[in-house]
Amino acid sequence: MALIVQKFGGSSVADAEKVKNVASRVVETANEGNQVVVVVSAQGDTTDDLIEKAQEINPNASKREMDMLLSSGEQISIALLAMAIEAQKYPVISLTGWQAGFKTNSAAGNARISKIDVERIQSELDKHKIVIVAGFQGLDKYDNITTLGRGGSDTSAVALAAALRANKCEIYTDVDGVYTTDPRIVPDAVKLEEITYDEMLELASLGANVLHNRSVEMAKKYNVQLEVKSSFKKVPGTVVKEVTNVEKMLIRGVARDNDVARIAIIGLEDTPGIAFKVFSALAKENINVDMILQSIGHGGKKDIVFTVTKSNLEKALSVIAALKETVPYEEVNHKDDLSKISIVGAGMVNNPGVAASMFEALFDASINIHMIATSELKVSVLININNAERAVQVIHDKFTK
Ligand code: ADP
Ligand code: ASP
Ligand code: MG
Repeated sequence: MALIVQKFGGSSVADAEKVKNVASRVVETANEGNQVVVVVSAQGDTTDDLIEKAQEINPNASKREMDMLLSSGEQISIALLAMAIEAQKYPVISLTGWQAGFKTNSAAGNARISKIDVERIQSELDKHKIVIVAGFQGLDKYDNITTLGRGGSDTSAVALAAALRANKCEIYTDVDGVYTTDPRIVPDAVKLEEITYDEMLELASLGANVLHNRSVEMAKKYNVQLEVKSSFKKVPGTVVKEVTNVEKMLIRGVARDNDVARIAIIGLEDTPGIAFKVFSALAKENINVDMILQSIGHGGKKDIVFTVTKSNLEKALSVIAALKETVPYEEVNHKDDLSKISIVGAGMVNNPGVAASMFEALFDASINIHMIATSELKVSVLININNAERAVQVIHDKFTK
């Protein structure tokens, strides 16, 4: 008998028909003689709708109350799915994140799972029930409800698979696997049979939201084999694992991230310690900085340009404004109608031409590059958001045609 964790995303449980479809698939797996634990997300756009509701009432609501609100979406899904399974006469129980034993740190809105006490789930499995668990949520040590960050149900599922030592973790979604790029932008994107944890982690971190990046990090750490599959079509999905057999392509995928804002500090003094002062002030406020560019000095002055997420833009600007006394500069400007486009693949390390080909594709399409960042596994460029989809298309074409 195998123990299988199956996760169904919001689009897979968006309406009554879809909930019934998921119920059938889950019951089918149980009827094959498996123990099944199911993690579900909030239905359709529920989480976005709840955020909108909160904005109408208080745009500066505390993160604690936001988590209280947002966690309700998943609670609806687990009850509805359990009811659909009851209707199919299979023993079932739904559990919220806290009932299922998810303990997290106190970083409201972006909490990390610290441990899962699996006794309750285990005892329900022992009673031969299908166990439905609410994704995306847990409880901190002060008994506050927390959520794991957007897309976090994937991480709930992988963490549960690791804690229960499950034989498999299947992530069901509205596409039938991981593609070379978002198949909704590039229709001729190619489905990957397999992808390594490292490549998937880069893709997910660079904006391919098909998997939450922390779920991939956790799968790698606990060696949980993941499969991304379709909720609707019964076809093999994409397996995410340590080593893949597939012949190394130059690049494994193209990702897009529109959650990016750029800040430029112009005319800083060209003396030692300036970058340290700027970035330590940002770090103190927990602001993550992504791409960084510093100009060469000219006339005793230099410029520093960097990117943050849109949600951190206002906070970052106020940190920089407060810094002016101690770290003088001439002016600050910012821009948030931007997109970061990245290519990812283990094969690019030994191929210096890869970055050049990416830039050529953009040049041929007359798309201007604002910033560039590279690492062993990726090359990222910052461009105007209105060029983003075209950029993904032309870069994808360049490497696949
Ligand atoms: P769920 O609600 O099931 O969690 P998400 O919307 O979070 O689903 O993730 C699935 C979506 O990820 C797809 O609909 C697709 O548009 C998008 N996506 C982005 N990049 C990729 C990629 N490389 N391969 C597959 N899907 C991708
Ligand atoms: N419902 C949450 C979200 O929309 C979590 C998830 O879907 O994984 O971000
Ligand atoms: Mg998701």
